[in-house]
Amino acid sequence: MSDEYFDDPSFKKEAIQTLQDLIRIDTTNPPGNETKAAEYIQDKLQSEGFDTELIESAPGRGNVITRIKGSGNGPSLLLIGHLDVVPAGDLDKWDVPPFSGELRDGFIWGRGALDMKGSVVAELMAFLRIHREGYRPKGDIIYAATADEEAGGHFGPGWLLNQPEHFEKIKADNVISEGGGSVLPIGGKNPNFLIQIAEKGIFWTKFRTFGPAGHGSIPGKPKEMAIIKMKEVLDKLSKYKPPIIIQDIFRETAANISLPSIARKLLTTKLTMKGAVWLAGKIFGEDIGQLIFPLVQNKITPTMLKAGEKVNAIPGECEGAIDVRFLPGYDRNDLNRILREVLGKKLYEAVEWEPIIDQPGGYTPTSVPFYNQIKETIQEVEPGAKLVPILSPGSTDLLHFRNKGMNAFGFVPMKIDEGMTIREMGEMPHGYNERISVDNLMFATKFFYNLAKKY
Ligand SMILES: [Zn+2]
Repeated sequence: MSDEYFDDPSFKKEAIQTLQDLIRIDTTNPPGNETKAAEYIQDKLQSEGFDTELIESAPGRGNVITRIKGSGNGPSLLLIGHLDVVPAGDLDKWDVPPFSGELRDGFIWGRGALDMKGSVVAELMAFLRIHREGYRPKGDIIYAATADEEAGGHFGPGWLLNQPEHFEKIKADNVISEGGGSVLPIGGKNPNFLIQIAEKGIFWTKFRTFGPAGHGSIPGKPKEMAIIKMKEVLDKLSKYKPPIIIQDIFRETAANISLPSIARKLLTTKLTMKGAVWLAGKIFGEDIGQLIFPLVQNKITPTMLKAGEKVNAIPGECEGAIDVRFLPGYDRNDLNRILREVLGKKLYEAVEWEPIIDQPGGYTPTSVPFYNQIKETIQEVEPGAKLVPILSPGSTDLLHFRNKGMNAFGFVPMKIDEGMTIREMGEMPHGYNERISVDNLMFATKFFYNLAKKY
């Protein structure tokens, strides 16, 4: 392993070209159409002698998988990334067309550059490098680029892991993908890299209220109407104050972050936590609460509402939806209990509840050897670096792997590019002018290469 490797102009050029090609294949989800991108990667792997599998979970929803066989009894490693991207949005807001993959000012621009075709390429280049060296790992090193992460992974890993004929192909002891890797603006010489070790569960739910339908000119009692009952439900939900629940994961976050110890203590004590967040917000001039409270609270958020077709017709039904994100360890029964408490028995029972997704949160403890491997590796490529384990308030494909009992961490290390703020970088993945610096592309490649060489 040497640095020249990653500064080698032809290797760098190949990485840039590969990412440009992938960005130019439009895999906006919906509908996804990941097969074209999967075929591109398959061609590249096959031209280097790999046996690959391209598996479609549905027409156009391609997943590509291959492996470097290990020689003995070491644990296996899966490098995985998703091929789909979120819609580019308003094209006028882009300085560069979102599917151009243009190289400008040291950055490769386009939808997916960060989330996560850049990482897909970093993993691929590291994987190819290892193969070209003729390296024989102890355990298998598996590479996969999959579909549908942006819509829940149900045509990607969520599907593959639930097909008995495909499970073994994507199964690994240790799994690494996106979800963490950004640097906090603290720590000075010891950059604090976030690593995602846990994800909140998702319990999306539709619900309906009912009342007599009729003509608007001769209305009955307002409180019996479906719309007014819905208002009552929403009023009560909006007044719900979820308790602060400080789990071990949050304590671990606080314990590893570069903070004065008094701040750490205030932040992890139930009584002082809210005050500490308020104070930090004053100091940093940002709404830190919006970032921190989801890590210590079960959140129920109304997001959809539908009723009525005509101004003069009273609808007999009103439909709403809640986005429910619960901490690891909580499930649908907890949601039902909370809803009953918040709404009261009578109103709760008058509402029709329809669960859409029941996906409990997951957690990989930092005590597994895999965590230490990642820590060692990041310190090799960035001396002095620290890892800060975090719970992700959203969810990624890693959830599917954790639910099958595998060790999974979200970590694609990215440094803050010169002239950019952490906020700007954080907003790019689903925003406008998404781009990755060539430096970060090579930094992540080097990280994955060093990590895989531990196998
Ligand atoms: Zn992503």
